[in-house]
Amino acid sequence: MNPTTPPEKTAMTATIDAALASIPRERLPALLQRMPKAELHIHIEGSLEPELIFALAQRNGLSLPYTSVEALRAAYAFKDLQSFLDIYYAGASVLLTEEDFFDMAMAYFRRAAADHVVHAELFFDPQTHTDRGVPFATVIDGLTRAVDAAQRELGVSALLIMCFLRHLSEEAAFETLEQALPHRKKIIGVGLDSGEHGNPPEKFARVFARCKELGFRLVAHAGEEGPPAYIWSALDVLHVERIDHGVRCAGDPALVARLAAERMPLTVCPLSNVKLCVFKSMAEHNLASLLDAGLCATVNSDDPAYFGGYMNANFTEAFAALPQLTARHAHRLAANSFEASFAGAAQKLRWKTALDAAFAQA
Ligand SMILES: [Zn+2]
Repeated sequence: MNPTTPPEKTAMTATIDAALASIPRERLPALLQRMPKAELHIHIEGSLEPELIFALAQRNGLSLPYTSVEALRAAYAFKDLQSFLDIYYAGASVLLTEEDFFDMAMAYFRRAAADHVVHAELFFDPQTHTDRGVPFATVIDGLTRAVDAAQRELGVSALLIMCFLRHLSEEAAFETLEQALPHRKKIIGVGLDSGEHGNPPEKFARVFARCKELGFRLVAHAGEEGPPAYIWSALDVLHVERIDHGVRCAGDPALVARLAAERMPLTVCPLSNVKLCVFKSMAEHNLASLLDAGLCATVNSDDPAYFGGYMNANFTEAFAALPQLTARHAHRLAANSFEASFAGAAQKLRWKTALDAAFAQA
């Protein structure tokens, strides 16, 4: 035993190790369901279910280019990221009032709570709304009200991350940052999303440098469809603290070694990757090998209304398709989600203790 290791920590670690080794695979689905976890990659506009899109369209007196909920859901057959984005932006067009943003976020938080998500860091895309004439304040006020209600009513803590749309210009990103500054305290960090091809991280180097000066936490989508080079530049040019997706790092051993050495989190989204054809099937997903390479990989839902499932569906479908994933991997994924979050150290320790207890009792 290392003499500097607190004895109680060693005892707990030994208890967990023993518990993890003895949990059979057939008990994993129930354990995956009830273990506490954090979600770090959820676009709140991607949680808009067809039923809510139709309800909001009706409330706002808008007509949709789909005749029914079923017709809209049937259109969710994507061949790549762009084919998804086209429908995603059409769905978001029903969001007009503060109440719409509040209702959308609360619908997500209720599903998250049911999946034992104790903490969520939500992406939102202000430009998707401000470009349609919806004021920035309408978006952020509705979302902030939902964040407060989620803590109060559901016991789910949440933070907001503002994403810049990378297919738009650097100038547009700077304008969005200006609009955000009066609301600075409501936003923990900034991210980068939308179509990756042809929009490398370097395009936003100056925006991210300014955001860092302003104290925002930094994340970016990289290595979903884009090459490993985009992950390198997200790290070295944007100086991000998490990589969103990042699964394509596997093609670059030096990059994998660096990500492991730095414990750089990857927010992996299994169902999204299969739905957008990043992997042909879940059985081909590299989640297990990322974990076995020592990476701080996490599981997340990305755009759950469009990709066929929320947090626990992502866990259970990945574990069902990948027989090499064990209780040890499940515990590691949940522990990684807390480690990679932007919550405070004391809160992280409380969640990790609850996680260990859930496995010790399994
Ligand atoms: Zn995403």
